[in-house]
Amino acid sequence: MSNGLFPAEVIGTRHVTPLMIRVTLGLDGYVSSGAADEYFKMFFPAEGQREPVLPEVVEGRWVYPEGVPEPVLRTYTVRRFTPGTGEMDVDTMDVDFVVHEGGVAAPWAMRARPGDRVGVSAAHGLHRPPREASWQLIVGDATALPAIGRIVEELPAGTSATVYAQVAGPAERQEFDTRGQADITWLYPGDIGLPEVVRRHDVRDAYVWAAGEAAAMRAIRKYLRHDLRLPADGFATLGYWRPAAEEWQRRFEQVAPDVRARVAVTRERGGDTEQCQDEFDAALEAAGL
Ligand SMILES: Cc1cc2nc3c(=O)[nH]c(=O)nc-3n(C[C@H](O)[C@H](O)[C@H](O)COP(=O)(O)OP(=O)(O)OC[C@H]3O[C@@H](n4cnc5c(N)ncnc54)[C@H](O)[C@@H]3O)c2cc1C
Repeated sequence: MSNGLFPAEVIGTRHVTPLMIRVTLGLDGYVSSGAADEYFKMFFPAEGQREPVLPEVVEGRWVYPEGVPEPVLRTYTVRRFTPGTGEMDVDTMDVDFVVHEGGVAAPWAMRARPGDRVGVSAAHGLHRPPREASWQLIVGDATALPAIGRIVEELPAGTSATVYAQVAGPAERQEFDTRGQADITWLYPGDIGLPEVVRRHDVRDAYVWAAGEAAAMRAIRKYLRHDLRLPADGFATLGYWRPAAEEWQRRFEQVAPDVRARVAVTRERGGDTEQCQDEFDAALEAAGL
């Protein structure tokens, strides 16, 4: 498909660790964005369907046929993309799923079998260390491990990264090859949190990439942007998930119009992406979210 949406089929699954399932998908036409943390929307079949209905792209918007149950969408990272080598060989994509209770994606991965069908959107990423950064500080929880794995594996020779990965226990550790130098510390429940990790480093000449639970990421962003006043290209923080997301969403819906209005005013005044994010975060904080 040339519209940035790709039907995909499960080729195989395996446990990377007890709480991380790797699903290998076969697909055609996907092109990597090149960013090590590239992520995409995954389309899961609606209840009662065997494969997801992918939308038409009309003037840049996704439009679904009428009367058909829409697929469920979740965001995942391209852990590895391998172009096929010959005419008979399909392109493959590895996607690593954290096992957790509830939801759609995690239980889908737990029971995925060869032949199961999903959809994949074009991917984008935010990991863009500037050339002048002398080192990288990479922090994240289990959901960020697929991106962390790629960042470490794609580190250019002669560059270094200090990595903190927060996981459920020693059995969740993974090994990554690299041509660069990566110093990885594994954090377990009861150890210091990711915001504290960032505060303990002098990151003024570093590039910082942080991803994981949304509240921790908001705290890290606030510290880097407002306390340290790092330039916008000096860091990337990404909220990947929230605990009790259903309750958070219910409360967010109550304040969403106000939050969106605040962000819109900032944008109309010429505010850039970071200023709009500041406004969004401030509005959420004011609402106790
Ligand atoms: C850019 C980006 C990249 C991501 N890449 C990955 C990835 O490669 N691998 C990966 O596993 N996740 C990744 N995530 C996180 C993933 O999108 C969320 O965890 C998502 O909520 C999972 O969907 P679900 O259908 O399983 O659960 P949902 O239906 O979204 O949520 C169901 C319940 O589970 C809770 N929940 C959701 N995620 C978790 C979790 N990780 N641990 C504990 N409880 C949870 C929610 O609070 C909710 O109560 C990424 C997110 C983003 C934004």
